[in-house]
Amino acid sequence: MREDYELVTEPLKAGGLTLKPPVIIAGPCSAESEEQVMQTARELASGGISFFRAGIWKPRTRPGAFEGVGVDGLPWLRSVKRETGMAVAIEVANAHHVYEALKYDIDIVWVGARTTANPFAVQEVAEALKGVDIPVFVKNPVNPDFDLWLGAFERLNRMGIRQLGAIHRGFSSFNGSIYRNQPLWDIPLRFRELFPQIPMINDPSHISGKRELVFQVAAKALALGFDGLIIESHINPVNALSDKDQQVIPSVLITELMAIMNEVASSAGSKENPELEELRRRIDSCDYDLLVTLVNRMMVAEKIGRFKKEHNMPVLQNNRWSELLSSRQNEGKNIGLSEEFISGLFDFIHRESVRQQNKSENIE
Ligand code: PEP
Ligand code: MN
Repeated sequence: MREDYELVTEPLKAGGLTLKPPVIIAGPCSAESEEQVMQTARELASGGISFFRAGIWKPRTRPGAFEGVGVDGLPWLRSVKRETGMAVAIEVANAHHVYEALKYDIDIVWVGARTTANPFAVQEVAEALKGVDIPVFVKNPVNPDFDLWLGAFERLNRMGIRQLGAIHRGFSSFNGSIYRNQPLWDIPLRFRELFPQIPMINDPSHISGKRELVFQVAAKALALGFDGLIIESHINPVNALSDKDQQVIPSVLITELMAIMNEVASSAGSKENPELEELRRRIDSCDYDLLVTLVNRMMVAEKIGRFKKEHNMPVLQNNRWSELLSSRQNEGKNIGLSEEFISGLFDFIHRESVRQQNKSENIE
């Protein structure tokens, strides 16, 4: 990780509004129709939300999915501004997107996770934004590459963009997980440690991938001291053209958000030792990631249990266990963890795995 770059930044202002923490940006994954955009915006605005998001061009992982309404959706966002007074935010991935956004007075733009992972695209966006004084948020790249994320900020900053914000939207992984994207909380917290002046907001919608988990992730982010949230909201989520499993209706968003904010306010840690508080947040974030890793491991253990059952194999195979333990001890030793610690830790983990495998034996 490079620590030699100073980013020259300024506080964020958009559409006459200052983005003060907690910054809440809400709106649909995609703008789909004028009616859907306006109705969602009206409901969010009446619940006190000041910043509206909507995807106009959608970077889809695979072709064939809904790729956004394109420039046709930009006048709808202008109507949102005029009617509700909210500032509006969209994703830009190339110079054409930037020019069109500026033509329609878009207040905030963000660079999406797939774009951040591509330095050519980031450079193109940065050059198109030269001389433009609006907030630009940069989502973390899809892969957990700190320098790639930082590189996007540097490219923008070199073009004179000073109103910079960061969005933590989690990191993709090949293994099945309870989350669509793994949070790896330590990465955004490390980023904030290096650049405390850059607002860091969390995107619990793309991390969780499921409505049921969105507010749990949002609460964790605020408890970890994030400066705000960007949350997907749709008036009719089950029929949304993109990300239908993770969008929530505006009224739910507003109620849940209020509950989280009250809880965070009442359990705020002491401000006497900010340095210690920050370090404690880092520990909390590592523990959270550790728990998610354990759940992912248990999910694999359960699959192994099913496989063994289908093939009439015993759950406990002593050779495999002793091989596993000695390989973990070696790997642990190489990165500075003692053999005793590893054997105690894996004894616990293995016992729970066996219990999970037996559980899957009893299912069916
Ligand atoms: C989005 O915000 O709708 C989006 C496409 O997000 P990401 O770039 O994080 O996948
Ligand atoms: Mn989305």
